[in-house]
Amino acid sequence: MTFHAKFSGYADPAFHAQGLYFGGEWHRGGGIAVLDPSTGKKIAEVADATAEDALRAVDAADAAAAGWRATPARQRSEILRRWFQLMIQHAEELATLIALENGKALPDARGEVAYAAEFFRWYAEEATRIPGEFRHTPSGSHHILVDHEPIGIAVLITPWNFPAAMATRKIGPALAAGCTVILKPASETPLTAYAMARLGEEAGVPPGVVNVLTTSNPSGVTNAMLADPRVRKLSFTGSTGVGRILLAEAAKSVVSCSMELGGNAPFLVFDDADLEAALDGAMIAKMRNAGEACTAANRFYVQAGIHDAFVAGLTARMAALKIGPGYDPQTQCGPMITRNAVKKIDRLVSDAIAAGARATTGGKPLEESGYFYPPTVLENVPTGASIAREEIFGPVAPVYRFDTDEEAVNLANDTEYGLAAYVYTRDLKRAMRVGKCLETGMLGINRGLMSDPAAPFGGVKQSGLGREGGVTGILEFMEAKYYAVDY
Ligand code: NAP
Repeated sequence: MTFHAKFSGYADPAFHAQGLYFGGEWHRGGGIAVLDPSTGKKIAEVADATAEDALRAVDAADAAAAGWRATPARQRSEILRRWFQLMIQHAEELATLIALENGKALPDARGEVAYAAEFFRWYAEEATRIPGEFRHTPSGSHHILVDHEPIGIAVLITPWNFPAAMATRKIGPALAAGCTVILKPASETPLTAYAMARLGEEAGVPPGVVNVLTTSNPSGVTNAMLADPRVRKLSFTGSTGVGRILLAEAAKSVVSCSMELGGNAPFLVFDDADLEAALDGAMIAKMRNAGEACTAANRFYVQAGIHDAFVAGLTARMAALKIGPGYDPQTQCGPMITRNAVKKIDRLVSDAIAAGARATTGGKPLEESGYFYPPTVLENVPTGASIAREEIFGPVAPVYRFDTDEEAVNLANDTEYGLAAYVYTRDLKRAMRVGKCLETGMLGINRGLMSDPAAPFGGVKQSGLGREGGVTGILEFMEAKYYAVDY
């Protein structure tokens, strides 16, 4: 059996390598190789958009904009709902495709598909509940009427770590709001984005409402679109470094920006925590997507009284994980996305060990043709090590010891990031007190997973601007219009 024969229907890479998608048509081309990170071998080739292609996609989004804006909310809602149903119907194929191009283990990929589809269901519901306001002026001079209008054409840029969910978390609210979009997925995982476009077509998304471009020149393509006055929104998910560059670029034409950027999540375990629950939570917070998540626990701060038991428990659980290709049903920890990702993790771990840390399991890259790094636990990590400052984005759990609540809070806040944090304690008062002091957009209290389409997702400090999901996520794609009314 050939390699591709194992992956049929929506899981077949060849099915999604048909060209750029704009104006409801596939524009043929190649140029970007998509690799299987578990072998480093090419599985498909997708089209490579130029800046001119990007402007043609803006033309398509513009041609569809008035019609989509005028489409009744109920109708937009029903299209999103059908898209949700199609994702669920093809969930196993989509999960396999994600596991193949991204490398994450199948259970994680299945979780992602369910999470991703839920954004379409949630925003199918929210599409029909767009809020407005009516107020009286304090002076009595007139009345204040506030409407929300679609902001206009939106450029959506997504990372490789959640190729389906990061796209639906933007497309769902944008379409619900009445905007047309151009999605630029990450070069490592374009197939899932094209698969989503196919399902959207099947769901009845009109031509030009959703357009998808892959490119090896992300800055040239994005800058061309941001300079076009018809583009009014940039919604970006990715690293803080690229976010800063895009904010500067968007400033030139004052394009509205939503930024979901990097994280450096602290995971605080207090002496009074339920140890087994904290270990369960730690495994989810660390090992979902093999650590390649923006919300991944990056620093474990554990109080002295529970520290040794926590390290022993975490070491046993991490050492027991089965490593392999994501699409192998036995795999619990898949490969990293690229060889460079493995090199970065190796550098952070080696530096920490050189500074006095000890690996209780793992600690060195695996010598395989794929991009594998083993689950690793580090203890005695100096708090000043680079692993405490940088996003690890891999299956490495550095553990630090602390004594007092105040010390834990200071350590947790000692970062430019502020996306997610976790607290484990049986004392809810303590959790809320500590939670109030933590500089974070999201806090898991006795939970290792916080993502939910119905909740506002986003960070403070250099982890981002704005929120996705929840009831406010749709407003990121709308402008408030105030009518001063006298009658
Ligand atoms: P990245 O390198 O910042 O890339 C993200 C996206 O931006 C990709 O589509 C990339 O395209 C594109 N890009 C890169 N340089 C660009 C430029 N100059 N102009 C326009 N687009 C550009 O991030 P990543 O490595 O894919 O993803 C990992 C990062 O995303 C981590 O920092 C993680 O924390 C963050 N993340 C945040 C959230 C959140 O919700 N806060 C969620 C998931 C991930 P190419 O692929 O073609 O380079």
